[in-house]
Amino acid sequence: MRESCFCGRSGELEDREPVLDAEARWLLRCPNCGHLDDLGWLTEEAALMVWGEAMRRRRDPLRTA
Ligand SMILES: [Zn+2]
Repeated sequence: MRESCFCGRSGELEDREPVLDAEARWLLRCPNCGHLDDLGWLTEEAALMVWGEAMRRRRDPLRTA
């Protein structure tokens, strides 16, 4: 899943930094500008998939998606 940030960075959503906010919502932070993207526009299932994939990529430095 690809999306471009308003800062000009474009790339896969899953390459952003996974963040949980105080209300336990899934957010992805742009590594370029720090903008937080709410995944509320996705279904809960899809949001969890994207967020989980972002988390997995950060935990696995050998994988270069
Ligand atoms: Zn950005």
